[in-house]
Amino acid sequence: MFIDEYISSVAPVKGKILIVDDQVVNIKILHQLLQNDYDIYMARDGHQAIDMCKKINPDMVLLDIEMPILNGFDVCAHLKNDPATQDIAVIFISGHFDEEKEVKGFNLGAVDFIHKPINPVITKARVKNQLMLKSQSDLLRSIALLDGLTGVANRRKFEQVLPVSWLQGCREQQPLTIILLDIDFFKLFNDTYGHTEGDACLRKVAQKIQDTVNRPYDLVARFGGEEFICILPNTDLTGGTYVAQQIVDSIISLKIAHKTSQVSSFVTISAGVSTIVPTRDIPEKRLIEAADKQLYLAKERGRNRVLGAQVVIKDSVIV
Ligand SMILES: [Mg+2]
Repeated sequence: MFIDEYISSVAPVKGKILIVDDQVVNIKILHQLLQNDYDIYMARDGHQAIDMCKKINPDMVLLDIEMPILNGFDVCAHLKNDPATQDIAVIFISGHFDEEKEVKGFNLGAVDFIHKPINPVITKARVKNQLMLKSQSDLLRSIALLDGLTGVANRRKFEQVLPVSWLQGCREQQPLTIILLDIDFFKLFNDTYGHTEGDACLRKVAQKIQDTVNRPYDLVARFGGEEFICILPNTDLTGGTYVAQQIVDSIISLKIAHKTSQVSSFVTISAGVSTIVPTRDIPEKRLIEAADKQLYLAKERGRNRVLGAQVVIKDSVIV
């Protein structure tokens, strides 16, 4: 998928708003005001608010400042310190105008303040404005993590996702597999057909890989020039090798002519697969190094093929 298709595919969805207040009557007023335009969730205290933010990932929190135990400022600071919740727009609801408090709120990362008693027209307008800004910055953030040429995830996205998958593998003690892919004789392809054809080839190959690796929690990213990388959580070496073989088979079946390839008359790809049950004391890059080694061997043994290995750890050392 290319960037312009991606943008037009981002359908406008109903915003999710979490209303947090220790007084039920205040929640009711805001709920009545916003329920027709948004999906509304409610929380009565700070701890509940934080839990719900993690669970439902709202676009916005309307956050009362004065609450017992955990006040609104504490909740906001907590949300902004957690990468999982830091992008939620926070609007504080305060009892009265207080310059010092507002400065503190903005410094904590809030986007706006609404004062009680609630003015329905102003409140609706402020919520709408901030949700629009939020959806624009969400879109920019997601575009910044896409590869501009091929439309798959870029290397930055890969570097964000790998540690998350790694930790998940540590927690669940489940195997994590990566597939490193490299188009065979791609330099010769560019020399033969020119860079425009080279770019078109990269797009077709990327799209095919993306179509083949299709579980929602898998990731396909462009790793460099003509290299792609896949992260397959909860996947053992047999499963990973199977997927890699499907990719290799699907690329040659695209039948992209490559008359200077020494393997085939069509474009082919080689794959290195590595699998590990992650532990916290092993750096993630070991898994990439292992896949790179397998890829090198796949190239050496004739290309257009898959080689894979399980990464075995003994006394915190890879053997
Ligand atoms: Mg209150």
